[in-house]
Amino acid sequence: MPVKNRFAELLPEITEWRRDIHENPEILFETHRTSALVAEKLKEFGCDEIVTGIGRTGVVGVIKGKSDSSGKVIGLRADMDALPMNEETGLPYASKTPNAMHACGHDGHTAMLLGAAKYLAETRNFDGNVVVIFQPAEEGGGGGKEMCDDGMMDRWNIQEVYGMHNWPGKPVGSFAIRSGAFFAATDVFEVTVNGRGGHGAKPQETIDPTVTAAQVVTMLQTIASRNADPVENIVVSVTSIESSSKAFNVIPQSVHLKGTVRTMSPEIRDLAESRLTAIAEQVCAAMGGSAEVRYQRNYPVMVNHPEQTEFAVEVAKAVSGDCEEAPLVMGGEDFAFMLEERPGAYILVGNGDSASVHHPEYNFNDETIPAGCSWWAEIVERRMPAA
Ligand SMILES: [Zn+2]
Ligand SMILES: [Zn+2]
Repeated sequence: MPVKNRFAELLPEITEWRRDIHENPEILFETHRTSALVAEKLKEFGCDEIVTGIGRTGVVGVIKGKSDSSGKVIGLRADMDALPMNEETGLPYASKTPNAMHACGHDGHTAMLLGAAKYLAETRNFDGNVVVIFQPAEEGGGGGKEMCDDGMMDRWNIQEVYGMHNWPGKPVGSFAIRSGAFFAATDVFEVTVNGRGGHGAKPQETIDPTVTAAQVVTMLQTIASRNADPVENIVVSVTSIESSSKAFNVIPQSVHLKGTVRTMSPEIRDLAESRLTAIAEQVCAAMGGSAEVRYQRNYPVMVNHPEQTEFAVEVAKAVSGDCEEAPLVMGGEDFAFMLEERPGAYILVGNGDSASVHHPEYNFNDETIPAGCSWWAEIVERRMPAA
């Protein structure tokens, strides 16, 4: 089975929604216009239940199949939020909002899931219920977690969840996935290195936090190179160094470091946190200063469940003829929280030869819509076949 013919017919309409969302990006939980548009479309399609305000600005829609003898409920999830950056695509439908841009293709994800919802509400060719989940704040806000915390899974008795992300550099409409750990846990840290400031020409009277911070930065590299098992995957990046001095001749009182830690297993995550704290505190103490460490755990590792991944592969092959094994991704994904609550799978769909996500020239490729929508619809029709 290639893509469903209905989606070739719906392509102009879905493209129009996608470009409208693209032109009006909203970040984090501020997806008010987008959520309203989603809820309005779901109503127009004849969804059986539409609830807004789940996870603040999230939207949930229920579509009942022709029958419900299976008792099954499948959740399909898309993200709606944009990024706080300026668009440089020059497109006629480029962002009208300064410092907001759909640079991760969540406009495409939302439009594709709306397309699938329209088709599923039209045909209802399945035995069970579908819950379409539109979440805000994927980009660092934990909107998916908030929807789970609002009791979404139990409230609609969702038994399995599926998610999708477009992938630049992969051919349009092709799929890739991997079983088990797939996207990394994304933690952040801050270290304030405190010393004693003074004249730049009299270092002997100071405890120089700049030199101390430099040692901390270097030592933090040993978490990955000396502490973690070499076959494990870990990134420790210091991404910001700020001194309290702006002068050539003033040794500062303190230096502030920021960075991120990416890991693929709970054990390595624990190791990274404990080593980072120990290194920062003890290096600073050895230099005569002190450290204040803040380590914050954000998204957990996103783990695809084996059985649902195998099924997702079967569906992807049916839609596009093939499904590659995806590499590990050291980026994070808020869908991880949903996969902690329910079994499911998250797949990548090719965006063609585009700029990478989070780049000011990135754009979602509308040609991928028929394949993406077909995958959603086929997940439902195969997992809950009509009686
Ligand atoms: Zn992103
Ligand atoms: Zn994204």
